[in-house]
Amino acid sequence: MQGVSVVKADITTLDIDCIVNAANSRLIPGGGVDGAINKAAGPDLAKAMMAIGRCPAGEAVITPGFKLRARHVIHTVAPVFAQHKEADVWRLLANCYKNSLALASKHDIASIAFPSLGTGVYGIPVERACNVAVAATRDHMRGSRVPAEIVFCCFSAGDAALYQEALR
Ligand code: ADP
Repeated sequence: MQGVSVVKADITTLDIDCIVNAANSRLIPGGGVDGAINKAAGPDLAKAMMAIGRCPAGEAVITPGFKLRARHVIHTVAPVFAQHKEADVWRLLANCYKNSLALASKHDIASIAFPSLGTGVYGIPVERACNVAVAATRDHMRGSRVPAEIVFCCFSAGDAALYQEALR
C-alpha cells in the first residue's frame, strides 16, 4: 500500500531511493539542505546540476545521488516568498511537489523523501507550506501508485509536528 510518513532527520542519512533537494533556479549548490546534500554526495553532484544549468520555480530535474545512499536526487526550486504574489507562492510550491512526484513516478522510484521545501532561507511560512505539501502529495497519489513510499523529512521536531498535523 502507498504510504506517507513524517520523520525528523538529516535527509542525507536516509536509506531511501530518492531524496529531493531544495535547489536554486541556477542549480548552483547553495546553503541549507542543498549544501548538506552536495557535501554528502561529493563534487560530482554539483557538476551534474551545473550541466543541467537551470530550473525555474515549481519545476524539477533529476540527477544521480553519487556518494549518497539515495540513488537519485530530484532538484526542485521553491518560490522565494517575498518575490511573488501569495497565491503564486502556493501554486508554485504545490508544483514543486507535483512535478517532483511525477518525475519520480516516470523513473519508477519506489521511495522518496522531501525536505520542507521553501521554508528555510526562501521564507515560506512552514505552518501553511506543510498543508500545501500534503495536499499536493495526496493529489499525486490519487493518480499514481508510484512512489509507494513518500516521506516528509523535517530538520526540527517543531516542523515534524506541523507535517504530522497536516497529515491528520
Ligand atoms: P529553501 O531555500 O527552499 O527555503 P532551505 O535549505 O533553506 O531551503 O530550507 C528548507 C528546509 O530544509 C528547512 O526546514 C531547513 O531546516 C531544512 N534542512 C536544512 N538542512 C537539512 C538536512 N540536512 N536535512 C533535512 N532538512 C534540512
